[in-house]
Amino acid sequence: MPMAYINENFLKLKAGYLFPEIARRVREYASTHPEAKIIRMGIGDVTEPLVPSVVDAMHRAVSEMGVRETFRGYGPEQGYDFLRSAIASGDFRSRGCEVADDEIFVSDGSKCDCANILDILGGDNVVAVSDPVYPVYVDTNVMAGHTGESDASGEYGGIVYLRANAENGFLAPLPRERVDVIYLCSPNNPTGTVMDRKLLGDWVRYAREHDSIIFFDAAYEAYITDDSIPHSIYEIEGARTCAIEFRSFSKTAGFTGIRAAYTVVPKTLEGRTRGGKSVRLYDLWMRRHTTKFNGISYIVQRGCEATYSESGRRETKARVAFYLENARLIREGLSRMGLKPFGGVHAPYVWVQTPGGASSWSFFDRLLNEAQVVCTPGSGFGRSGEGYIRLSAFNGRSNVEEALGRIARVV
Ligand SMILES: *Cc1c(COP(=O)(O)O)cnc(C)c1O
Repeated sequence: MPMAYINENFLKLKAGYLFPEIARRVREYASTHPEAKIIRMGIGDVTEPLVPSVVDAMHRAVSEMGVRETFRGYGPEQGYDFLRSAIASGDFRSRGCEVADDEIFVSDGSKCDCANILDILGGDNVVAVSDPVYPVYVDTNVMAGHTGESDASGEYGGIVYLRANAENGFLAPLPRERVDVIYLCSPNNPTGTVMDRKLLGDWVRYAREHDSIIFFDAAYEAYITDDSIPHSIYEIEGARTCAIEFRSFSKTAGFTGIRAAYTVVPKTLEGRTRGGKSVRLYDLWMRRHTTKFNGISYIVQRGCEATYSESGRRETKARVAFYLENARLIREGLSRMGLKPFGGVHAPYVWVQTPGGASSWSFFDRLLNEAQVVCTPGSGFGRSGEGYIRLSAFNGRSNVEEALGRIARVV
């Protein structure tokens, strides 16, 4: 029987192991301990509702859609001008970054954007990621056929892993060799660490010297509370010729279920053909976006726009401050227990070494069984994550306090 051929690159993927395995262990514990009140500190999802300014704006937009005169069908694939302009001025020009309205491409998520961006790059690029890493960067390169097979430790041939560890403060070092594409995430998921201006400057210099492209994932920029730390890579001189930036409304405004994000592609950024001709990546991304995507809803875009109003800013800032206070409580609580946490200052994640040299999964089991607290095993984010866990500050305050009390009793 003739059958269609599949993309065999998918067969190289390690089965989506981390979150299903966590869910399996939690389910098993819950079924044998139905009375247990399990606190989930593993999730990377917001818990607080949308802010009033966003809800009002979306209500108004729904009403417009119900009236012939203000009804809208397909919008521009790249996003409505009102939103692109609010983003470019509110997130960039207000911070002194040169970003034009039409360099903003609105989308339904940063996860999709940082996967889709591979459409416009060739298959022979050497790709560098940090270890530990947000798994999407790696898996999408595997699917696109940019890697070899994985080894026993789950690492793929052809990828350059930049080891982040306690010695370098969980900030990935620059590669010793030349790479074409670099994924940077700051503030970082999973480690919660953040790159300062000097370090980000080193990366931009590296990229310009080596003609590399940086994919800068700034999904957590709203969690930066110190103005000396760059929110955008375009705060660094020269980044417009070497970097694409991904931003999302998910963690900033609680849009994980609403879905809205955007990508910045400067018109000054170029790649090359095999024949050595320079091509603007902007033109390729425009072609890709307008061909494969039809925009996000008008209603959601009005909700996004509202986050840039005075009240919207104030309200979303308060939500972020709430999560950051959780992070502070977690960090300080763990320190008091004699543990050494990383992150959690400019990020909603705290990354901490397991006590007594326990493996990530054995400490996960101990927290689940003895404290009924669910964390994320660091080893799920890469080899260098072994011996660490990630705790998320996305939670209600009472859950955070209760969880810390329970953890203190078992470490
Ligand atoms: C949550 C998150 C995103 C945002 O993804 P969306 O698809 O926009 O919800 C992007 N990058 C990282 C590292 C994240 O943790």
